[in-house]
Amino acid sequence: MNEVFDRERTRTRTAELVAALPAIEWITDGRVERLSQDFYWFSPVLKRQLEGLRADAVARPKTEDEIRAVVAGCAAASVPITVRGSGTGNYGQCMPLHGGVILDLSAYNRLLWVRPGVARAQAGIRMMEMDRQTQALGGEGSLGWELRCVPSTFRSATLGGLYGGGFGGVGSINHGPLASTGNVLGVRAMTIEPDPKTVELRAPEALLLHHVYGTNGLVLELEVGLAPAHPWLEAIVCFEGFDAAIEFADALASAPGIVKKSVTLLAAPIPDLLLAATPLLKGTMSAGSHAVFVLVAEFAEPALQQLVAEFGGTVTLRKTAAEVRSSNRTIVEFTWNHTTLHALKVDKNLTYIQSGYQPGRHVQQARTLRDKLGDEVLVHLEFIRTKEGAMNCSGLQLVRYRSDERLDEIMQIHRDHGVYIANPHVWVVEDGKQGQVNPDIVATKLRFDPQGLLNPGKLRGWAERDRIMADAAAGRVSLATLPRF
Ligand SMILES: Cc1cc2nc3c(=O)[nH]c(=O)nc-3n(C[C@H](O)[C@H](O)[C@H](O)COP(=O)(O)OP(=O)(O)OC[C@H]3O[C@@H](n4cnc5c(N)ncnc54)[C@H](O)[C@@H]3O)c2cc1C
Repeated sequence: MNEVFDRERTRTRTAELVAALPAIEWITDGRVERLSQDFYWFSPVLKRQLEGLRADAVARPKTEDEIRAVVAGCAAASVPITVRGSGTGNYGQCMPLHGGVILDLSAYNRLLWVRPGVARAQAGIRMMEMDRQTQALGGEGSLGWELRCVPSTFRSATLGGLYGGGFGGVGSINHGPLASTGNVLGVRAMTIEPDPKTVELRAPEALLLHHVYGTNGLVLELEVGLAPAHPWLEAIVCFEGFDAAIEFADALASAPGIVKKSVTLLAAPIPDLLLAATPLLKGTMSAGSHAVFVLVAEFAEPALQQLVAEFGGTVTLRKTAAEVRSSNRTIVEFTWNHTTLHALKVDKNLTYIQSGYQPGRHVQQARTLRDKLGDEVLVHLEFIRTKEGAMNCSGLQLVRYRSDERLDEIMQIHRDHGVYIANPHVWVVEDGKQGQVNPDIVATKLRFDPQGLLNPGKLRGWAERDRIMADAAAGRVSLATLPRF
């Protein structure tokens, strides 16, 4: 892509900025290396490509004024800025390709207000902390409110990070991915200029900065929909056969009368990998089985048991909400990409792919691909609603890595069977989930980041900005309308 940043000049200017802003918490020691990374190493491809990237300094502002001071200084000196929440992203999303400043927002983390069904918070709030505070607001006999979907990294990941780099997670079975209409109601963002401005974008424009790796705007605050909190019962249900396991998971996911938060299918031999990865799961699954990890409301347990009996499963773990709370351990941290994390501890040759099936055909597609790819691709499915509301599943299949070419072939085989792939082995926004250059995203970047300083090198469409704006001026493309600022 076409950014040119002289590495030596960026280093010098960053050092000058650190010296000029002594009131800011700056990190310039060995910790910069860790704070310049995320979980890019889940991909053998990205591990090779991104290893060794390092910012020149990390700023950890606590207030909007401090953020403004860092942004103004970077913009005046043309220093690249990479925004960071907790760095749990997977594709080198918050790894700086051109050095400069990491803007770590983890200390900008206050819950601002909560109303029934809606809350507003600063971007650096950890999702577990936000849930803790909104759940505490329940009145007599109520457990309050909670985020509609959280990644399995909810303990450390920030709300801004989920918005900037994530997709959805636990709860998406009810509310779809974060991008579903009604989940994100507004964002307040700052422009990257010597005199930074702030602007509120309401839905649908509020999604223009979503999942673009912090390349087209710095999000300060988010206003999001909440769901009623329930006492979630956690269970693992084991099956001898794959067919019974997937049919059970699909039936439970689809059952409209069962209040639930999560249904995960881990086909054999993934349960065995998890058992080998950690003593925490000892005795919770039968060896060689296919396991379904489930969160249902405690009052829905009889209905869950009914389906378990119908499909011939065995409940091998059962924990009440109180037990989960007091042990501070949840099976959520073995689902979504935590499954990959634990499996990698046992077998370093594993990697993963991300996929989206077709509603209505998803069970058959999963069966067909399992038959075709055998032991090379291990089936991990998360049942979720699509953005439009249909029940479906997302795959985070584990892959026994052989070569980049074979990895590409495996992803192509999925596409050939009608399964959408969000390639997790690339670091350019458009090569991943987005799939193509989106003129609105590029036009938004022009407004918020006219110098192209935000996470430079990750947005392919930035190189096409002149053409996109010429097309818009000539009426060949119509762009989203942003408020005046
Ligand atoms: C083990 C594991 C499990 C995971 N499970 C899930 C899952 O269940 N669902 C899911 O969606 N993802 C999942 N992920 C990916 C990741 O955890 C989530 O996307 C998470 O929400 C990222 O939050 P973070 O604070 O760590 O963000 P970071 O990694 O710090 O940032 C992510 C991206 O957002 C940008 N960003 C951060 N804050 C802002 C801001 N304020 N303004 C603009 N841009 C910003 C960053 O520049 C970066 O590009 C998982 C990752 C791992 C390693």
